[in-house]
Parts: sequence; structure tokens; C-alpha cells
Amino acid sequence: MNPREVANKQFDIAADVIRLDAGARAVLKSPKRVLKVSIPVRMDNGEIKVFQGFRSQYQDARGPYKGGIRYHPQVSEDEVIALSAWMTWKTAVMDLPLGGGKGGIICDPKSMSQGELERLTRGYARAISLVVGPETDVPAPDVYTNSQTMAWFLDEYNRQVGHQEPGVITGKPVEIGGSLGRDTATARGCMIATREAFKAKGIPTNGATIAIQGFGNAGSFVAVLANEFLPGSKVVAVSDSHGAIYNPSGFDVAKLVEHKEKTGKVAGFGGAKEITNDDLLTLDVTLLVPAALEGQITKDNAAKIKAKIVAEAANGPTLPEADDILFKNGKFVIPDILANAGGVTVSWFEQLQAKTEYPWSLKLVQERLEERMVKSFHDVHDASKKHGVHMRTAAYAVAVDRVARALKWKGY
Ligand code: GLU
Repeated sequence: MNPREVANKQFDIAADVIRLDAGARAVLKSPKRVLKVSIPVRMDNGEIKVFQGFRSQYQDARGPYKGGIRYHPQVSEDEVIALSAWMTWKTAVMDLPLGGGKGGIICDPKSMSQGELERLTRGYARAISLVVGPETDVPAPDVYTNSQTMAWFLDEYNRQVGHQEPGVITGKPVEIGGSLGRDTATARGCMIATREAFKAKGIPTNGATIAIQGFGNAGSFVAVLANEFLPGSKVVAVSDSHGAIYNPSGFDVAKLVEHKEKTGKVAGFGGAKEITNDDLLTLDVTLLVPAALEGQITKDNAAKIKAKIVAEAANGPTLPEADDILFKNGKFVIPDILANAGGVTVSWFEQLQAKTEYPWSLKLVQERLEERMVKSFHDVHDASKKHGVHMRTAAYAVAVDRVARALKWKGY
């Protein structure tokens, strides 16, 4: 299923539940603007290679477009548009004064040198500089981009406009205006929401087992933070793009992180058994955290999922056809637009710090993230009980209603 169809289907289900008027329904099913750019890059061997990039600006009724930039061979225009729609609902479900956007470049960052990545990022920044800005559209990291990518982007943007504009991008290194706690924010937010889900379902954290698909910025920090938020739990399975590993007695997470840093993979970690990605998704665990890419939980594997709680640290990991199966089987899914919203929430904190030129302490960042996540979790959980729907439809109902109200005030 094309990610845009997935996003529109999820939207339609919620639009029916809240009886959204036809005008808002039509407006909210398409991005307001999509910029497509060609970025010529001189590769290390002297050749010029032209990369395809995108920036989708989905909705800005509630505030400037906001969302990350993804570097991946499978990036496509439709994927970027879907991701920008999900950002629109994500910022709304968190009640942030922001809209939704997303960028992406079709490339294989793992096969590129630092120099090539820097030239690609600077080229992309020049190409989209016309449509971004602190009050217009604010990018951030996503799959295979990081604080270094953000620093290059910022520097190139500053050169374009002729002055310093730290608010044009978030996820920057702390030394040049980034926020403390931004690097772990997605995982922290996910664990706060997960802790609330354990409480709401009355599931004890002691002895809980966790499987995590993906060991990037979200997945690895989920593993690191698991015990702080779910005392007595253990991480028993993890995967990355090279493969998955399983150890029923639980991993020493600090050592696993070290192993991944050293070898570039989770596979080969001492005492663990190698399993397939599909095995990982269907393991008999308490909590499953998809923290990789879209379309992982489908109608083919949904019925085999044994986890009681699924916390979507990734964007779009579950297809709509799988949602119904999980719901029927009594699984509690914390949907992506809520579960992984900690990242954009701390991005917003970073914007506030840039505006006031006043850095916050880590303690303040974490307290405010905690407060926002808990409130949004309960807004969605209450909506799910009120409408008798699962958490995804409830999250969309809350978010779409907020965006539609803003649209109505401003006019279509
Ligand atoms: N890429 C992250 C996401 O999908 C963060 C976006 C942001 O901070 O703007 O939520």
C-alpha cells in the first residue's frame, strides 16, 4: 500500500468519526505545496551526480510547517507527502502551534563519504532555502540524518540569507543553538507514553519483555531508557537493517550500544541468537516497539503479534488493514503520531529557546516533555473511550478536529 493511501485512509476513518465537514475533508487530504528539486553533487571520484529531493508542506493552519529530512534510497514523493501529513496530525495531537512538513532525498547515505553528504546537504539547503524559514517551515532530523546534517543545513541557509537564523532548523548540535535532550526526546516521549499505557491497561512493568525493531536514534534510546520508565523490564530482542537478535534473559543494553557503535550492527552480539525481522515482530513479548520504517505490520503478520502493547516509535509502521486485526485481538497500539511525538515537541522547545536566545536546562526540557506527553496520551485515551475506537483513530480524531478548527477560523 502506498504511504499516501495509508495516510488518507487513516484520515478518512477519523473524519467519519468526528463528522468532519466536506470542505475541511477535501482540503486536509492534500499537501498545500510540494517542492521537487534536483541537487548536483560532485562526488569524491570527480563525477557529478544529480540527486532528487523533496520538501512537502502539508498544512500550516496551526503554525509553520514542521518536520524532518530523510535520507534513504526508498524516499519518494508520495512517502514524503505521507510523512508530512503525519507531522500535521502529530503537532496537532501534541497541541503545538505548528503545522506539518517533511523533506527527503533519494540517496544511500551509508555508501557516501562525509564530504559527499556535506555537499548534498548544502545543495539541498540552497535548493529549498526559498521555502523554509523560522516562521515558514522548520526542518529537523529524520531517518539517516543527524545533528551534523542540521549544522551543515543551518550554515548554508545562513550564508543564503546573510545573517544568523538558528530558528530555521531544529535538532542542531547544542553548541550552535540545539536543545539539551533533543537527541533522546523521541525515545523519552515514547517511553512516557508507554508507561502511561502500562498503567492504563494495568500491566505490571516488572518482568515485562521488550522487542525493538530498529536501532537508530529512536530504537537505541528506547532500549537505553526502558528500565527507567518500565522498572523491572528487559529488552530481549532488537534489530537493525542488517538483522535481528534475541536473548530471552535480556541484553546488557550499554554493552549492546557499544557493540553497535564498534561493528555497525547489532548482529554478532555475545550470547544472542540471530532471528529474522518477522520473528522479532511476532515474539511472545509484553511490548513491541517498531522503530524503523513504514509498512512493517501488515494483514499477513498482524494476527501473529503477541505483544500486549505496541508503541510506534517509527512513522507509519502499521497498515490500516492490520490496525483492525490488532484491535480485535485486544492489542493496545500507541500510534506513531502520539508515540514518537517527543522529538518534535523538543524541537518546538528548541525553537522557543532560539526565539528568546535563552537555553533551557535539561531538567526543564524533560519536565515539560513529561507534562505534554502525559496530557496528550490522556486526551487520546479519553477520545478512544468516548468514541469507542482504537487509539490511532482517537489520535486522528483529536488532531484532525484541532486542525479543522484552525482552518475554519482562517478560512479555506
Ligand atoms: N523526524 C521527527 C519526526 O518524525 C522529528 C521532526 C521534528 O522534530 O520536526 O517526528
